[in-house]
Amino acid sequence: MTTPLILVSNDDGYNSPGIQALAAALDSLGEVWVVAPDRENSAVSHALTLGRPLRLATVAPRHLVADGTPTDCIALALGHVLKGRAVDLVVSGINQGANMGDDVHYSGTVSAAFEAAVQGLPAIAISLVSGSRWDFGPASHFARVLAERVLARGMTSGTLLNVNVPPGVPKGVVFTRLGKHRYTEGVIEDTDPRGRPCYWIGGGEPVWERIPGTDFMAIGDGLISVTPLQRDMTDHVQLGELQAVAAGWNLEERA
Ligand code: MN
Repeated sequence: MTTPLILVSNDDGYNSPGIQALAAALDSLGEVWVVAPDRENSAVSHALTLGRPLRLATVAPRHLVADGTPTDCIALALGHVLKGRAVDLVVSGINQGANMGDDVHYSGTVSAAFEAAVQGLPAIAISLVSGSRWDFGPASHFARVLAERVLARGMTSGTLLNVNVPPGVPKGVVFTRLGKHRYTEGVIEDTDPRGRPCYWIGGGEPVWERIPGTDFMAIGDGLISVTPLQRDMTDHVQLGELQAVAAGWNLEERA
């Protein structure tokens, strides 16, 4: 078997300890390349930079930084840095903070993996839920175990695995679906030094609903959560119902 080619990125930026721990953990599995944002890019979602040129800089052998988003990094890696080579796996993280429930839509960490899935590659996003201290050991170990399995068994095209690791020592692993939460304070109003009003979005600790089988529930129980996500966001049940209803529509007639 040829040496697997693994691409690593994140949204916390190249200098975050999470991506360094992840790259080190995957090193023995194959040829690891890191292409990551040169600074913090959390909650930038799936943004792609089209209005200005991007710069790439090599900071270590096979380690590059870009002045763009996580999605930019995947696009630059696949379309330029590793162009013409078959990438076997893309892993994004380890994010400092959870990416569960509806937050996966805002997450740059998840979006980097999502971009890989859009491009037809197996992808994993991995996040460490905040605890009293950041210990990337258990998350790094699990990233390696999961990556090894995905490399050996492959993955359904267009699917990515969203992993959240609880603080402390995980009690086990469960496969989950996305849960639900709400933030206790949506917008906080303040005053800037010049006396003008300003606003912070996303204040307060999120409150999650205790729904069995969800990522939040798994983390609450001290378990590693693995949620398969798909690039196809079509609501197939709704589509069938709409098509059945639309069969009776006559758009030519005006009442
Ligand atoms: Mn982040």
